[in-house]
Amino acid sequence: ALKPLIAGNWKMVGLPADLKSFADAMRAWSGGSRGGLLICPPATLLAAAVQAFDGLPIAVGGQDCHAKASGAHTGDIAAPMIAAAGGTFVIVGHSERRADHGETDAQVKAKAEAALAAGLTPIICIGESLAQRQAGETLAVVEASLRGSLPSGDLARVVVAYEPVWAIGTGLTANADQIAEVHAHLRKVLLSIDGTGAAVKLLYGGSVKPGNAAEILATPDVNGVLVGGASLVAADFQAIASAC
Ligand code: 13P
Repeated sequence: ALKPLIAGNWKMVGLPADLKSFADAMRAWSGGSRGGLLICPPATLLAAAVQAFDGLPIAVGGQDCHAKASGAHTGDIAAPMIAAAGGTFVIVGHSERRADHGETDAQVKAKAEAALAAGLTPIICIGESLAQRQAGETLAVVEASLRGSLPSGDLARVVVAYEPVWAIGTGLTANADQIAEVHAHLRKVLLSIDGTGAAVKLLYGGSVKPGNAAEILATPDVNGVLVGGASLVAADFQAIASAC
């Protein structure tokens, strides 16, 4: 079985004081997790988070990277910069970036390849909209997005997050049957693409909370969670981490 990954995406939230209180709470935590822990803070806190989590089993990641390793791209962050700051993961293709910045599957694929080239583990996000789910298009949509967003070659160091857009920040969670159906399909597609597809961790994201984490993490083919809002509250992140 794949070791679960409990990942927090802080999105555009968090100042140094928030990082400090989160790190203090993690240091004081007497509980534990069977999973690996990851926090993806805003880029301004990335290096500070690496320092704040020193000695704790918490990896740090970026929330996006550019497809190029350097260049004239004002405001963007390159994968080698994340690696040099001590990050080991990077989220690519989050639905908020696809919506806010028009990112396409082809761009997400290029970002994932840049992440791998820099030694980072990309977390590739895919998910259907409410309209697509209601139209019965969910499996086709996520399969097409997965195929278009995956880096070419070895998949052993790739993570995929299934995040139904309608479940992000809404309090609506996909139920265990819906999650299991999509994850089983994604696993089948991954295995058909490359023998290393078995190593790809499949995370679920979308309104994961302490109250639903255990059921979600026990769902077949779920190898972890990508947590937004609840990852900002150390006690909630700890409860979710303990649930696997
Ligand atoms: P919420 O957990 O706030 O719904 O966000 C999910 C998400 O988008 C994680 O990347």
